[in-house]
Amino acid sequence: MARFIFVTGGVVSSLGKGLAGAALASLLQARGYKVRMRKLDPYINVDPGTMNPYEHGECYVTDDGAETDLDLGHYERFTGVASKQSDNVTTGRIYQTVIRKERRGDYLGGTVQVIPHITNAIKEFATADIGDEDFVLVEIGGTVGDIESLPFMEAIRQLGNELRNNAIFIHLTLVPYIAAAGELKTKPTQHSVKELRSIGIQPDILLCRSEMPIPEGQRAKIGQFCNVPPEAVIQALDVRTIYEVPLSYHHEGFDAAVLNAFGITDAPDPDLSKWEEIVDRSINPEGEVNIAVVGKYIELQDAYKSLTESLTHGGIANKVKVNIDWIESEEFEKDRDSVADRFSGVHAILVPGGFGERGAEGKIRAVTYARENKIPYFGICYGMQMAVIEGCRNLADMPHAGTSEFGDFDPNVVGIMTEWTKGNKTETRSADGDLGGTMRLGSYPCDLIPGSKVHEIYGQDRIDERHRHRYEVNIAYKEVLEKVGYKFSGLSPHGDLPEIVEIPDHPWFIGVQFHPELKSKPFDPHPLFKSFVKAALDHSRLV
Ligand code: GLN
Repeated sequence: MARFIFVTGGVVSSLGKGLAGAALASLLQARGYKVRMRKLDPYINVDPGTMNPYEHGECYVTDDGAETDLDLGHYERFTGVASKQSDNVTTGRIYQTVIRKERRGDYLGGTVQVIPHITNAIKEFATADIGDEDFVLVEIGGTVGDIESLPFMEAIRQLGNELRNNAIFIHLTLVPYIAAAGELKTKPTQHSVKELRSIGIQPDILLCRSEMPIPEGQRAKIGQFCNVPPEAVIQALDVRTIYEVPLSYHHEGFDAAVLNAFGITDAPDPDLSKWEEIVDRSINPEGEVNIAVVGKYIELQDAYKSLTESLTHGGIANKVKVNIDWIESEEFEKDRDSVADRFSGVHAILVPGGFGERGAEGKIRAVTYARENKIPYFGICYGMQMAVIEGCRNLADMPHAGTSEFGDFDPNVVGIMTEWTKGNKTETRSADGDLGGTMRLGSYPCDLIPGSKVHEIYGQDRIDERHRHRYEVNIAYKEVLEKVGYKFSGLSPHGDLPEIVEIPDHPWFIGVQFHPELKSKPFDPHPLFKSFVKAALDHSRLV
């Protein structure tokens, strides 16, 4: 039977609960255990799919096509375990399930209430779809005391009771340093734990984020006030790279405290060599490259979390530091001539995924610059669509080409996908249907054309990559574009959906319809990112 670890947060948000959980899971994995991670999100949206990335950060897509919270990206990057739809749920989805049952008459005329109906649905979700995992880590979004999170807290309290020795609670808090007093303060932690205990949850372990080491005495004090043994009060100090978190937590005895709380005494020692190697490569790079990311959500870098990490992984693979130069694409619309200046010193250009018209023309200008000046170019999803529009406009004699995503162009070389194949089923969508949950989502196969650059990079004939898009490059323009120097080097197995375009006569120019950044890991960098960073490095040696 799997053991459950519930992770809650207190004091303030953004303490890195997702990362903390992911790092702990990786430590348990390093000891030979099988782990699974999931997240319960208290907000009302059914999923984060329709949420503005500015507010919520990136929407992370799983193989099975779920649009989930970005923390699931951390989980996968630290454990390599592919997340599933059953690993993320929101209040909205829980209520949707309960209300559907109520409408069907499943509650036989009973009054439907938060306790037990909503809490039961949460409990069912948290414990469903578990196989032979040794540990299941369940993170509760938000902080203790939030109105929205109460049903989740109640549900995990009940689970703690039901599972008894097979469940523990970890609470993440902040121990702030007050410069004026020259002291670390434990009071916010005490209050947060008090709040947690008032709803019936006694934490087994406290993970305390702190800017500086917490003296022994302070730790004992926290333990005493919060009813936790002093060795289960773990300090979580800032580290040089997020991939150092597992090593740092291990050093502080976090995984040992977890095993201890479960009464496990025969756990194997962890093999941390993988993390040591990653940290060593990250902090001792042998060079650096500057990569421009031309996007529109650049003020909140969480909007491009997986992308940033994938570029870092590409850097780890090549032993170089990747400096990301974030560029708001609208800049290039306001001042057309700024492009060359802005890209001086840049060794490669990447246009990431995006939605809507704002900033699109600026992205197209970035593509022109990369293509004409032979600077490595990586277009992801929207970035591939913009590259195709650029080629049609500037090389294939279609000066008014565009995408129906933001207008009616002559012609629309990118258009809404109304039909595609999933396994042996055909999925159809109407052009004016709902926005939520109607995209082509999740993992789809793509065939690589032998002799192409991507075939060489992947070293495979068929790949599986994750998708999240509503529009597609119209295959009807394959021939004209191939005549002017493009190659459609990746296609869906039926040959009707362009998945990859490249320019063979360019050092590195690749556009992909999928999101390779969702599958890259520090210990297994994605081949496209590895190759792209290498191309940036080669380019840096030319200039
Ligand atoms: N907006 C484009 C589409 O829906 C691209 C999506 C994306 O970049 N993820 O097809």
